[in-house]
Amino acid sequence: MIRIVTLDEYEPTILKALSKSLYTAFAVGAEHTGSVTVPHGQVEPYDAGKLLDTLPKVQAFADDKVLFLTTRKLSPRKLPSGEAPTVGLSRYKSQRAIVTSSVIKNLDADSVKTLARYAMQEIGHAFGLHHCLDPRCAMYPTWTPSYPQGEASFCVFCRDTSEAAIRMTKS
Ligand SMILES: [Zn+2]
Ligand SMILES: [Zn+2]
Repeated sequence: MIRIVTLDEYEPTILKALSKSLYTAFAVGAEHTGSVTVPHGQVEPYDAGKLLDTLPKVQAFADDKVLFLTTRKLSPRKLPSGEAPTVGLSRYKSQRAIVTSSVIKNLDADSVKTLARYAMQEIGHAFGLHHCLDPRCAMYPTWTPSYPQGEASFCVFCRDTSEAAIRMTKS
């Protein structure tokens, strides 16, 4: 299952809507299972990699994914062309992912689908999915201007790939 662990306070309705989107996208259970506090000494904007490595252990089974959710900003990525905002991070085929909602103005019932899309991308990477060329797909690169307007869904290829990856982890 996908365990959503919050670092900051969220409206229960937002967490419910996010869980529902992730459940629909991955066809595995998704729910808010707790909250943790950021280890001492880390300040906003958080270093996403450091955060992933130092956040406390949460109770999870080996085939679970843990999605940390924060309202705080993550340090921007340095690109040759300048800086790009970081919406989240996970490592390829790993258990943990982090996503920030700080890039979404007025997180509500409508815009929560953008947060779900960001979360799908990071959890997708954690399941071993790569970026996708279909602009409608949640695995399309997040730094593209059209990304936030998209739906919380995968293309057929990414959906099949994630289902296969989930079957693999379960066996
Ligand atoms: Zn990505
Ligand atoms: Zn795709």
